[in-house]
Amino acid sequence: MTRALLVVDVQNDFTEGGSLAVDGGAEVAARITEHLRDRRGEYAHVVATRDHHVDPGGHFAEVPDYVDTWPAHCVVGTGGEELHPRLDRGPIEAVFDKGEHAAAYSGFEGRADGVALADWLRARGVDAVDIAGLTADHCVRATALDAVREGFAVRVLLPLTAGVAAATTEAALDQLRGAGVELTGDVHRPVRHS
Ligand SMILES: [Zn+2]
Repeated sequence: MTRALLVVDVQNDFTEGGSLAVDGGAEVAARITEHLRDRRGEYAHVVATRDHHVDPGGHFAEVPDYVDTWPAHCVVGTGGEELHPRLDRGPIEAVFDKGEHAAAYSGFEGRADGVALADWLRARGVDAVDIAGLTADHCVRATALDAVREGFAVRVLLPLTAGVAAATTEAALDQLRGAGVELTGDVHRPVRHS
């Protein structure tokens, strides 16, 4: 197997202090950096995706429902769109941007220098992907399901993910299992400080 690591949407707006922050997001960034420090050799390639919004229409809402509509996030040209500083950019060979003018949950909707993610991976002989990043119940879920559809063997590294909400994360994990995705470890559940 020729395996790649896909780092999904580890961006400032999805981490603590961002406009659509997920508990544990910054720690996920740090854990992915550790994972790559220890296990870079298991991957032929490492790539990242970014939510990259200009005017995504109904994806943003003044009063979001946090299911289909969201506060403005990852707007092109803002710091919120940048990859989190605790994510080591060194190993990342290409960044695939998605969602300029519409919601795009899956990294497979992304392009880097005009090349779609699936084409980029296949051109390099990749047939298996590990997926990490944010969020487990939305963009990681959608990216993993598309990876299966595109014919890759897929693992989601649960300790290197975090979800928006417990119920939607559980539902996502059931859906991924049903689709043939291998789930490794336990989903990261940060301690809430209130
Ligand atoms: Zn978005």
